[in-house]
Amino acid sequence: MQARGQVRANALTVDVEDYFQVLAMAPYVRRDQWDRWPCRVEASMDRLLQLCADHRVYGTFFTLGWVAERYPHIVRRIVAAGHELASHGHGHERVWEIGPRAFREDLLRARQLLEDIGGVAVTGYRAPAFSIGPRTPWAREILLETGHTYSSSVYPIRHDHYGEPDAPRQAHWPDGPGGLMEIPPATLRVFGRHLPAGGGGYFRLLPYRASRGALRWISQVEGQPAVFYIHPWELDAEQPRIPGIDLRTRFRHYLNLGRTEERLRCLFKDLPWDRIDRVFAAELAGARDWPAGQEVAAQAV
Ligand SMILES: [Zn+2]
Repeated sequence: MQARGQVRANALTVDVEDYFQVLAMAPYVRRDQWDRWPCRVEASMDRLLQLCADHRVYGTFFTLGWVAERYPHIVRRIVAAGHELASHGHGHERVWEIGPRAFREDLLRARQLLEDIGGVAVTGYRAPAFSIGPRTPWAREILLETGHTYSSSVYPIRHDHYGEPDAPRQAHWPDGPGGLMEIPPATLRVFGRHLPAGGGGYFRLLPYRASRGALRWISQVEGQPAVFYIHPWELDAEQPRIPGIDLRTRFRHYLNLGRTEERLRCLFKDLPWDRIDRVFAAELAGARDWPAGQEVAAQAV
């Protein structure tokens, strides 16, 4: 899978959405009023894409259909810069809340839009708020039917909004060969528990060295690529404040926004990064070769 002495890249992933679409904000921002909030995703994506270009880093951009429809140039820039274009669905609703029928429609709508605008095949998907798990036993089959080959939608941690703490920590095929591949965000296993190490709010909360140490441990000691995720709004300290939100949401969303860009710069310098479809190329090909698939699934503890 990897030449001796060669360091395998980690996977950089970006959920392309605007600050008012975050699901923790849903009780305070009406979906039918999204168009009334000032758009910040264009400027934040400019910064993020420039940061990637400065460091020659490539990643996978799980892009919301809603964003692609209104700002198609963002999609074209992602593709032109050499990144992998993937789907974050269309309307940014939790999969277990909308049910199988609406999920299917949401997937098809987003994939069609992204492929038409981007001019490339879209085969990867990340569920809004990691909302695929025991409550959505139908989700993987629908993802396969609608042309997806992998998902990065199950976060194997305990969290009040999402997470499936007993799910495997590493890339695996939940339904066996030929099924959908699940590529979870990075976690550390400490005293039998899985701790989040894959980005998001934790990247802003913890000191940079702690994040880097965890990611290095996964890639260098465990020998597995770490999957890291970030949102464009996490680089935007000047984003409009949403009024009336509860203390916990306010803390999680606005904490250390001003430090994200510098931390990302360090992360891009300190560790190797690439797109999911290249980092996991062997495993994705292994879906057609069950012995290789078994080996990876057996490591997934
Ligand atoms: Zn999202």
